[in-house]
Amino acid sequence: FLAAALRGGGARWYKYVMIKPDGVQRGLVGDIISRFERKGFKLVALKLFQCTKEVAEEHYKDLSSKPFFPALVEYILSGPVVCMVWEGEGVVKSARKLIGATNPLEAEPGTIRGDFAVGRNVVHGSDSTENGERETALWFGKDALVAWEPALKPWLLE
Ligand code: GDP
Ligand code: MG
Repeated sequence: FLAAALRGGGARWYKYVMIKPDGVQRGLVGDIISRFERKGFKLVALKLFQCTKEVAEEHYKDLSSKPFFPALVEYILSGPVVCMVWEGEGVVKSARKLIGATNPLEAEPGTIRGDFAVGRNVVHGSDSTENGERETALWFGKDALVAWEPALKPWLLE
């Protein structure tokens, strides 16, 4: 469904978002999901998940040469995460703004990281459509997305 929707069935926009173990442990799941809901994006996949080392390493493979990579993988493995896919026009860029800068001390107030974090940064968001598709397949497998029409759509879109 995802690949077909991206490549064939007209314009669609998806973003893979993940509440990291610190966000789950700190009880921020509801607050973080609310930010995306209130903005008006559409939730198309959601689960609580304890990942394996293989999945964590694959997810961050672009950073595998960084000195902080082993600690990063350990952090992602340290407890359950909440995996989500959000849909909406412009969602990849817009949701990155909602999330805020990588370093939470530099993230603007009003962003998730700016409001909720000082060290560990509580949430991940894919940085491109391609990576969103790759991460969705990695964390959810194929055919995970639910196609549905929100009743509020006419009130949200021009
Ligand atoms: P993001 O897309 O904003 O999450 O940032 P990146 O893709 O650059 O990095 C992925 C994750 O690696 C970040 O969210 C941090 O958890 C971690 N990370 C990135 N840069 C650093 C760093 O300089 N030091 C440490 N300790 N962790 C980092
Ligand atoms: Mg990134």
